[in-house]
Amino acid sequence: MIVRFWGTRGSLPTPGSATQRYGGNTSCVEVRSGEPGAMVVLDAGTGICAFGAQMSSSVSRIDILLSHLHMDHIIGLGFFAGLFRPGLEVHIWGPGSTVLPLRARLTRYLSPPLFPVRLRDLPCRLAVHDVPLGTFELPGLQVTAALVCHPGPTVGYRLDDGHSTLVYLSDHEPALGARRFPDLPRWTSGFDLAAKADALIHDAQYSDAEYEHHLGWGHSSIGQAVAFAVHAGVGQLVGFHHDPWHDDDTLDALYSEYADPRLRVTPAREGAVLAWSVNEAAARRDR
Ligand SMILES: [Zn+2]
Ligand SMILES: [Zn+2]
Repeated sequence: MIVRFWGTRGSLPTPGSATQRYGGNTSCVEVRSGEPGAMVVLDAGTGICAFGAQMSSSVSRIDILLSHLHMDHIIGLGFFAGLFRPGLEVHIWGPGSTVLPLRARLTRYLSPPLFPVRLRDLPCRLAVHDVPLGTFELPGLQVTAALVCHPGPTVGYRLDDGHSTLVYLSDHEPALGARRFPDLPRWTSGFDLAAKADALIHDAQYSDAEYEHHLGWGHSSIGQAVAFAVHAGVGQLVGFHHDPWHDDDTLDALYSEYADPRLRVTPAREGAVLAWSVNEAAARRDR
């Protein structure tokens, strides 16, 4: 599995010299399973625009897995070049609501007056799916989706290519309402999804001090993400969905406090490719 970050920022794009190293584009992560011609993209923030611009013409199918429909996760969708490529098979997966299917929810953004083109007028071969909660198959990947703690219908994803496992919990506040955190696994949002993953991409929007002023906003502190990752026994944690007010120097300072011998912790960086040892992954699977 190859994992590349195209957007790491939370809430709002933050271009500029102060965010050049970790990136200013909002959530978008490319996942390649090795299945020829197929690609998966997690979320469609502004990062998906640069991803689409360099996408090879040999790609014949792309699956976009949306965690939820907050604007920072779908704002790039209408500007994704793949939607305008005739013949390209594009599948968009994401949560419906209790009253509307995903297609109707997306159409609120992808239609005038907010956007000039309607979904039905796109030249690609588009299929929009309400993501099933549970496990389903994509080319080269087994995907598990589960609802997680965040305002509005929101899912986390676990991707397994038969050799290793990646978990994506972009917007997630598992500490909300917990008297102790992390508590028993069955009471911890996202725990089953994340358990023993080789790599966990997890919401780490705030410093621990900032979190105290943002209870219920749907995000985690870096310290909470570390505690969650240790509790779930993952191989490495990538802190994601950086706060728009955290520039590169701030992120360096914040993450320098979380050198933990039990876990590799890094802040997600736009352009970076995530790697892990195949031997470690095999050992983790056997445990
Ligand atoms: Zn977000
Ligand atoms: Zn959100």
